[in-house]
Order: sequence, then C-alpha cells, then structure tokens
Amino acid sequence: MTEALLNVVGVSRSFSAGEDELTVLKEINLQINRGEMVAIIGASGSGKSTLMNILGCLDKPNKGHYFINGQDTSAMDENELAALRREYFGFIFQRYHLLGDLTALGNVEVPALYANEGPHERQKKATQLLTRLGLSDRLEHKPNQLSGGQQQRVSVARALINGGDVILADEPTGALDSTSGEEMMKLLRELHRDGHTIILVTHDPHIAEFADRVIEIKDGEIKDGEIIGDTRNDNVNAYQSSDRAATELVDNPPQTHPQTAKQQTTKYRINWSRYLEALKMALIGMSNNRLRTFLTMLGIIIGIASVVSVVALGAGSQQSIMANIASMGTNTIEIKPGTGRGDRRSGRIRTLMAADADALKTLSFVDSVTPTVRANVAIRYASETVTGSVQGVGTDYFRVRGYSLAQGQFFAEGNALGSVIFLGHLPVRVIGVTEPIESVSSNSDELNVWLPYTTVSGRIFRQNYVSDITVRVDENVESEVAEQGIISLLTMRHGTVDFFTINTDTIRKSIEKTSATMTMLISAIAFISLLVGGIGVMNIMLVSVTERTREIGIRIAVGARQTDIMRQFLIEAVLVCFCGGALGIGLAYFVGVIFSYSGSDFQMVYSGTSIIAAFACSTLIGVLFGYLPARNAARLNPIDALSRD
Ligand code: ADP
Ligand code: MG
Repeated sequence: MTEALLNVVGVSRSFSAGEDELTVLKEINLQINRGEMVAIIGASGSGKSTLMNILGCLDKPNKGHYFINGQDTSAMDENELAALRREYFGFIFQRYHLLGDLTALGNVEVPALYANEGPHERQKKATQLLTRLGLSDRLEHKPNQLSGGQQQRVSVARALINGGDVILADEPTGALDSTSGEEMMKLLRELHRDGHTIILVTHDPHIAEFADRVIEIKDGEIKDGEIIGDTRNDNVNAYQSSDRAATELVDNPPQTHPQTAKQQTTKYRINWSRYLEALKMALIGMSNNRLRTFLTMLGIIIGIASVVSVVALGAGSQQSIMANIASMGTNTIEIKPGTGRGDRRSGRIRTLMAADADALKTLSFVDSVTPTVRANVAIRYASETVTGSVQGVGTDYFRVRGYSLAQGQFFAEGNALGSVIFLGHLPVRVIGVTEPIESVSSNSDELNVWLPYTTVSGRIFRQNYVSDITVRVDENVESEVAEQGIISLLTMRHGTVDFFTINTDTIRKSIEKTSATMTMLISAIAFISLLVGGIGVMNIMLVSVTERTREIGIRIAVGARQTDIMRQFLIEAVLVCFCGGALGIGLAYFVGVIFSYSGSDFQMVYSGTSIIAAFACSTLIGVLFGYLPARNAARLNPIDALSRD
C-alpha cells in the first residue's frame, strides 16, 4: 500500500483557557490520499477549523505527528512550513480573507510573490486564473467592490496560483447565498476532477454531499473532537475521475523543499522584486493613512531639521568665531596695573615700567615685548581734525601685534608718508602706515597713531610709567606656562602683585569652549527630539501591526516567511523615517533662508556630510525603532491573526 498523502497520527490539540486546558482535538488519526475530495463535518466549535489549521501547517499539534508525503512536519522549521503553505497548500476561508488594499489581481499574485515568481509571470498566471474563474472584467477591482461569490473566487484563484495541490477550504460557502454556494462547490469539484486534493470543512450536510468521503467530528463532552464517522459517499459520481487525477499528480509530486534549481539561479533578481513589492505595499499603506503617516513623520522631520540646523548654525558661528580669533592676531599676554579689569584704583598704580618690559624680554619663551602708553588726542592734519588713539609703543610693537606695514592710504586720499600731523600740539611725521586689521574689539576705521613710548611719556604725558606691557610668546610655548613665568618675574620685581594679565590664548580657548558647549547642548536637544521622533514611529508601527494583524495572518497563511513580514514592516518604518529625513532637511534649509534675513552677522553653513549623516541617521532610526514592531509582526501567530476581524 502506498503511503497516504496526508497522515495524521494521534494528534491532540488543546488551548489554555484561563486555568483550564481546553482539549479540542483528542488523539486524532486521519489519512487522506492524493486526489481525494474529503468533507469534514461537525457542529460549530467541534474543532474543524483547528484540524484544518493543523493540516495546512498553520498550527502545530500539542501531541502526535503529522506527516505530509511521509515527512514529519514536527521536524520542519518555520521556513519549511512556510514553503509548504506557499507551494503546496491553498487556503480558502469562510470570510475570503483578501487584502483590502490590493486589487483582485494583486491578491491573487501574493503567494506567487512569496514564491519568488517574476512580476510578469505572476501577473500572467493571475490573469489566466481569474479569467478562468469568470472574473476577467474584475481584475482591477478591490475586494470591497466585489460580491461575496466573486471574492471567494478570487481567493480560489489565490489558492491555485502556486499549484494548490491540496486545497483546504474552511466553510467556503459559509458566507455565501445558496446559489453562489452551489457554484463554489461545483468549482471545487471541478478542481477535484483536475487532480487537486480537496479538503472541505463544513457544518452543512448538503455541502458535505459534494465530497466523495465525509468525516464527522462530534462535538460532545466525551467524544469531543474525535472522528466518529468516516463514510464513503458513493452517490456523487458526476465529476468523479480520481484515476485520471492520480496519474496526473504522479508527475507532479509535492515539493516539500522550496529551493529548486530554477529558483536558485533567479534568486538575486527576484529578491529585488520582493523588496520592490514590499516598498509598493508600504507606499500604498502610507497613502491610505496620509494624515497618520504625516504625523508619524513629524517627529522625524522636526528632529532631523533641528539636527541639520544646529550643525549648520554651529558651523556658521564657528566660522565667524574663527575669523574673530584670527583677527586677534598673535598669541599675546597683556599686563596691566591693578587687580583686574574695571579696577578703579589701577590709575593710581604707577609701578609698571618700561624696564619691566626689558626684563621680560630676557625670558626664554618671550618672542617680543612692547610697553604701551595710551592717550586719546585730537589729531590734526592741515585743516582736518579727528580724535584718535595715540599709543606710545616700543620698537617691537608691530611684531607683538602682528601688524604689517603697507605703503598706502591715510586720512583721505594721498600719500600720508612723510606728512606732518599734529597730536594736540605735538607735530609728528608719518613714517609708516599699517595694513588694516579686522577685529572684534576695534573697527578698522578707528584712527590709531603709534609713537615711540618714550616720546609719548616724555613729550605728551611727562610720566615715567607705562599703561601696559604686551608680550608675544613663542609659538611653541604653552601660553599658560609663559603667563606664570611672567607673573612670577614681575611679582619678584615689584615685590607685590599690583598687575594682572590678559592672555589672548585663554580668551580664544574660552570662546572655543563656549561655542563647543553650546553646540553640544543644542545637539543633545536635537538628539532627544530625534529619539522622541523615533519612539513615535515605533509607537505608530506597533499600533499599525495590531491594526493589520489580519493582513499579517493572511500573508502567513499564503506562505510568507517570517523574514518577508519582517522586511515589509521594516521597509515601512524606514520609508517613513527616510521621507521624514528628506522633509526635515528641506525644513532646515527653509530655516536657513529665514535666518539669513534675520540680520544675524553670520550665515548657517550646510555641509554635504551633515546632510548625508542626517539621511543615514533617519534611516537608522527607521531600522532601530521599526525593528521591534516588525519582529512582533513576524512572530504573530497566524491562527490568532486570522481569527481577528
Ligand atoms: P469549528 O471550526 O469546528 O467551529 P474551532 O476549531 O474553530 O471549531 O474551535 C474549536 C474550539 O476550540 C472552540 O471551542 C474554540 O473556542 C476553541 N479554540 C479555537 N481556537 C482557539 C484558540 N486559539 N485559543 C483558545 N481556544 C480556541
Ligand atoms: Mg471553524
């Protein structure tokens, strides 16, 4: 005797109902041969659907074994079971279970898609099947535009597209009127005649009469779930031709291992089409829930926009700070009398001498030193008078400050070199003109006149002390160390600390540090907003998985692998985040345009890197925060999923 096609041996299935165990199937034994048409009949709640789900590898028994073509299903992994559902079984459900977003054609194509069929073949096959089932003029209709009978025929076409060697029909006529129900049963008989093995579940004895063999499951306290009747229905002969069917199927044995040679070679191309299809599904889903999608994106949009803007702002302010720092000139340490800026008694301290400057010059780390004597005086040239700052400086002054000499303009036009100007009543001759220097503290229009400090203190002020001393430190010396050296030398000379120092390097560092701190702070806020956006995406995706439980169940039932489901939801999450990222970058540019009109003294600077990083970041968020919902979707139990409405 040849082995039965489907062989159920001692199978039990129980569900936990609160504290109790509800045993629905009790040690069932059942053999179904190739090409048979079997009806399983029983009252509602007797466990028919449970048995059907086990037969179709949607569910697993708690006890016992189920062999398909001699192979034990309990030894198979999820992928092998998915392959069986996809390529061997075809489900027809009482409530059709079509995907509402897809057309009739799209619905029929789904199992072929998961079976790696190319898009053209898929469409051709689906069209042929639908045409054969009398739906050639309904290809582009959505399920809600079709009658019950038409929807059920679409689901028959879906069951057949990958071959559908074994058709499992769970109350296929349950939701149909009697005429459509009868048509459906004729269709099933036709398929039976063509060689398909048909297993039909019904509570209706009239429907069961269409089958050759009727198995009864009895609903009862003791006999619950056991096969009590297994009768041959010999009066149905109309379409019977099992012999022919059997011979046909010998040439076409069930394929329990999914990877055939043909599929291997075309795997690469086909996989792309699966990604593309998932992308298409994601787009359909997104456009069906536009407002929700947009609100989900909003978190990402704001997050990305703020990150990009902050980076651009940071880069812009950095640029302007760098320019300012450069304008500070060389690294100098200034020494002033008093205890600090704003010390009102500093004017009375007259201990800072030119000799101090000479002493400082002897320090090894000092590049150059200059004392300065300052005064604001009226400067007169010919008939023009302006107030300018006169500074009496040492010979090293220009080196200390990093000024360079230029031949050129003075007052207005004309060559100033050699002209004689009046500082108050003191006539002096211009012997050189500096290049203008851009700076934060002084603007270049300000008139500065430099004289030897001896002249200023001798001829203008008649004093022997200086206003301050400026030291330029060697490039390769730590300015803090130099500062300490200067302080100790002067303290020694003065016997007390009656001066203070201003180190431009310290200022530069503190500016840099402040701007770095600001950038960090704002980045942290931007990052938090991205995080919140990501959590929003995750939240909505989790809701979406719950909402689409039925869809997921259908996809699993027609043979989607866990990876297929996972991929679909991941792609959706990534797509939402990616679009959010793109819109966010757009928003950031918009902010930049507005900012440039705000009259700020610097621009936002966008870098390609930050934009690529923003895209990468939003995509990463999609993957990270889409993972959990996608995994949840992939791990859904198809039975629970299908029983949802
Ligand atoms: P039928 O299809 O014959 O009407 P089912 O196989 O759907 O019956 O269900 C048989 C029994 O098993 C019912 O009492 C039902 O409540 C119970 N049952 C089915 N599925 C589950 C489940 N997932 N969890 C708990 N109980 C279930
Ligand atoms: Mg049922």
